[in-house]
Amino acid sequence: MARTADKLISNIRREVSSGILKPGDQLEVNALAERFGVSRTPIREAIRALVDYGVLETRPRKGSFVRILNAKQLFDLFQVAAELEGMACRLASLSLTECSVKAIGLELAKCKKAAEKENNIEYAMANLGFHTAIHNASGNDWLIEQLRQLQINLNSYRTMPYKIRGRIQKSTDEHRVICDAILSGDGDTACNLMRDHMMLQGKRLPTIIATLEQQKK
Ligand SMILES: [Zn+2]
Repeated sequence: MARTADKLISNIRREVSSGILKPGDQLEVNALAERFGVSRTPIREAIRALVDYGVLETRPRKGSFVRILNAKQLFDLFQVAAELEGMACRLASLSLTECSVKAIGLELAKCKKAAEKENNIEYAMANLGFHTAIHNASGNDWLIEQLRQLQINLNSYRTMPYKIRGRIQKSTDEHRVICDAILSGDGDTACNLMRDHMMLQGKRLPTIIATLEQQKK
């Protein structure tokens, strides 16, 4: 059984990844202790660990917040993620198993369902599931771990454009063609499509950053 602090770390990470907790949101120890039904000690421990992971940041005399990346940090992050996600597609197309084909298909179906319902939070989780299924299908453990770390910082920014009308439907369509390319063994096409899918979010960075700057004030 995982320690309380470890469970809290994964719960808070999940909330940041799904967009429930957004960049710039404050984390109050007392409120979190009440919400998760634990004492303040493991909450403080989890916050410290998440600051070390770069998910949270502390501001003097103000407390802990979900970290806000600046324009360069965000661009750099999306650039690395786009290349590694593309690489995962290429490797996945070369080493598909019955199990990985099934997992990718299942996650794509979840994306479609969430997009039909226009449920942004459900879509955020389904999106993460789809990308993770491709990472796993790559069979490269180093790559899987690098992408897992990147996703934690990336995902809260990824979910912001979902508020744009029609974006999650469009994102699902992009997932479908990526999936088709992987399953047909066309790794280069899958890689290029995935890179474009990721950088589309990158191009929205100026809007995302302006929104965050507004929230800071
Ligand atoms: Zn996606």
